[in-house]
Amino acid sequence: MTSSFLPFDPCAPAVPCQLPPVDVAIVGGGVVGLSLACALRQSALKVAVIEAVPTAGAIAKGQAYALHQVSRQFFREIGVWEALAPRIQPFEQVQLSDGTFSQTVRFDPQDLGTEVIGYVAEHAVLVDTLQATLKAASNVVVYCPWRVIETQGGGDRAQLTLVSADLAQPQVAHLSARLIVAADGGKSAVREQMGLKPWGWHYPQSCVVATLNVAHPQPVLAYERFWPTGPLGVLPLPGDRYRVVWTLPHEMAAAVLALEDAAFLERLRPYLDPAMAEITGVSERFIFPTQLMQVNSYVGDRCVVIGDAAHRCHPVGGQGLNLGLRDVWALAAQLQAIAPQDIGSYPQLRQFQRQRFWQNSLTLAFTDLLNRLFSNNWLPLVLLRRGGLLALRSIPILRQGVLRFMAGLTFPVS
Ligand SMILES: Cc1cc2nc3c(=O)[nH]c(=O)nc-3n(C[C@H](O)[C@H](O)[C@H](O)COP(=O)(O)OP(=O)(O)OC[C@H]3O[C@@H](n4cnc5c(N)ncnc54)[C@H](O)[C@@H]3O)c2cc1C
Repeated sequence: MTSSFLPFDPCAPAVPCQLPPVDVAIVGGGVVGLSLACALRQSALKVAVIEAVPTAGAIAKGQAYALHQVSRQFFREIGVWEALAPRIQPFEQVQLSDGTFSQTVRFDPQDLGTEVIGYVAEHAVLVDTLQATLKAASNVVVYCPWRVIETQGGGDRAQLTLVSADLAQPQVAHLSARLIVAADGGKSAVREQMGLKPWGWHYPQSCVVATLNVAHPQPVLAYERFWPTGPLGVLPLPGDRYRVVWTLPHEMAAAVLALEDAAFLERLRPYLDPAMAEITGVSERFIFPTQLMQVNSYVGDRCVVIGDAAHRCHPVGGQGLNLGLRDVWALAAQLQAIAPQDIGSYPQLRQFQRQRFWQNSLTLAFTDLLNRLFSNNWLPLVLLRRGGLLALRSIPILRQGVLRFMAGLTFPVS
């Protein structure tokens, strides 16, 4: 079996066919799904990844993510760090500030005992590196662009029905697996089909994201500036570019999204760090809703949910993908520990649930608290948070504790 990243055409047109059975069927070839396939590529398990959207479509929004130290450890462990590192941007400092309050907090690598605080990786780079790694994997096959339209647990094997992306002449295929891993994102249809119920809420805010080009190289700094309307995160990208994640109430976000380039930059400028270099250009803008969501049980009948399919948090602090990668790390270790016994066995998979649920819950609660504490103008909270920033500035052990938590280093991985 070989990996395939080309439009896959396993069946005669319009004739349902049975694909070769696998041990693990990963639904969703985003960063989380592909990472799990990479983590299992040297195992004895047969793995299929099914991804609905061709790669070009998935990278069009130019997403980029802050990756924390724990994600670096994970990529190193699964053997993709060497290929990834030259293509992503390390940052040496993170600065937090509250609007125009002059007392900012700066986190340095010494606070973590590392050389840098974290990294910024573009979606395209992550997906490309992971796909390239999988090309040499003889136990992984990628069906793309194919969409999973139905899943069923029960019995010895789970069943999946796939349909090809060719709308003019869609093909149907069936696949059986010992375990389905739902890595199909926040709107996960597999989660729904498997009866795993999410809970949570939508924030009254959306994020407008854009890439800025700047005139001069700057010290490599990421920063988050908290405004009563919502946080503004700025992440350095390779090549004198910055990714801006600007959280605003829905109506303001929609209005900002509709602005022409020059008007958008004029509106953005007062929210940025005054020391930011001259901006020479701005990319197309995209908007994302914000949400907190968690599934009570990550494990169903021959099914596990991971990444955004299992939990979503506010983008403040750049935690979502990092949590998803920790899910992958824990699940890959668990599956390899269970094999050659039945990897779809519910009691065995409960260990994954026990390990990840509370750690994810804590981070979700932390991002929720951070956003609520800062996204308002209520004087007692203004005083409280500014006092908190002063405490972080002057008490190194507190600063180190917060940074270790945000970098995912507070809890052991397994
Ligand atoms: C504005 C913003 C900024 C963010 N910044 C950061 C950050 O700095 N750091 C960080 O860690 N996180 C960040 N996040 C969170 C991060 O984007 C997500 O946690 C992460 O992308 C989730 O990855 P995933 O692979 O689980 O899901 P997705 O990226 O949603 O991937 C799911 C995949 O499944 C596929 N799929 C869906 N349904 C099917 C189906 N039926 N059949 C086949 N395929 C299917 C989709 O096409 C998609 O490719 C941010 C989020 C937002 C909104």
